[in-house]
Amino acid sequence: MTADAPDPHEGATLTVDLDAIVGNWRRLQDRLASGCRAAAVVKADGYGLGALPVAAALAGAGCQRFFVATADEGVALRGGLSAAEIIVLNGVDAGTAPLLHGHRLTPMLNSLEQATAWRDYATGLDSALPAALHIDTGMARLGLAPGEAITLTDRVDFRRRVTLTLVISHLACADQPDHPLNRQQLLLFAPLAAAFAGVESSLAASMGIFLGPEFHFHCVRPGAALYGINPTPGRENPMAAVARLQLRVLQVREIDAGFTVGYGATFRAAGKARLATVGAGYADGLLRSLGNRGHGTVGDKLVPLVGSVSMDLAVFDVSGVASSDIQPGAMIDLIGPRQSVDQLAHDAGTIGYEIFSRLGPRLARRYLSSAA
Ligand SMILES: *Cc1c(COP(=O)(O)O)cnc(C)c1O
Repeated sequence: MTADAPDPHEGATLTVDLDAIVGNWRRLQDRLASGCRAAAVVKADGYGLGALPVAAALAGAGCQRFFVATADEGVALRGGLSAAEIIVLNGVDAGTAPLLHGHRLTPMLNSLEQATAWRDYATGLDSALPAALHIDTGMARLGLAPGEAITLTDRVDFRRRVTLTLVISHLACADQPDHPLNRQQLLLFAPLAAAFAGVESSLAASMGIFLGPEFHFHCVRPGAALYGINPTPGRENPMAAVARLQLRVLQVREIDAGFTVGYGATFRAAGKARLATVGAGYADGLLRSLGNRGHGTVGDKLVPLVGSVSMDLAVFDVSGVASSDIQPGAMIDLIGPRQSVDQLAHDAGTIGYEIFSRLGPRLARRYLSSAA
């Protein structure tokens, strides 16, 4: 990635390469049969990377359908995207229906209650409103039971007031290609999708795309893969990295053998050590579980994160780095060319999704894009 250096006044800096995100979206689109389109999931502020700039870049590249989790996320996104379809995954109730309608947001109907609420609202307007429909085939989180979905196809009152644009289900185990639930969900979903004649259908998120073309239907819903998280765990990542997280060094100090670092004194220096304190902590998304387990990089060198992570600070052992390379003001990479988000997540005992979506509001966010 061609990141020029962050401005010196910036502390911890997240640099997001919008061209790389667009490239990942195109790469996914290229895997799909003609007639199948890749949407983009930008919930949780674009997995922490910035929903508005990400969505604007993807819309510019031709993406026409976006998913967010909540009505508020949809309203914020509509502010930057006038034309695209925006689907609110968590759905609708009587209270949020006017907000959704006012911003041309499409609710995902996740239950008969939500379906009824949206129909009632449309009836009150004496209009027909768009919606998507979620059928649960094995996730047991959101969605109508298959039998409930079928009853909707027969309900004239519903069909008259609600124009379905999409029918979806969501895979529970797509990260495990051999898991039997994948095929079970596929076999359950295919006839349900067909029962909604003329309505587009969608089963796969990022990892489901890689289970094979029979999982693609009319639309796929990638989030993670757009952001460079590996959608094929355990195999080489087919996606490009899109983010770099750099931490500004505030102070460098030497300690003698036997000295300890940080809260709880959880790290004790075995010998003389040189330490660099950076101005970012768990409030910025450096998970506490990285304490004494994660590392950053300086050039090609790994620098272990020592002691526990504080709210605003963390400490790295930079004894292995030339002191000329690590002075106050220098940057330590936490996510970057030498360490992927998946690697960092592994060290933290979590998944790349959690690392990205917990990146805090205090990080300076910079966007690289060739489309000025
Ligand atoms: C979050 C989400 C997605 C995107 O999943 P990824 O694994 O990030 O691609 C797709 N569909 C639904 C219903 C989701 O909740």
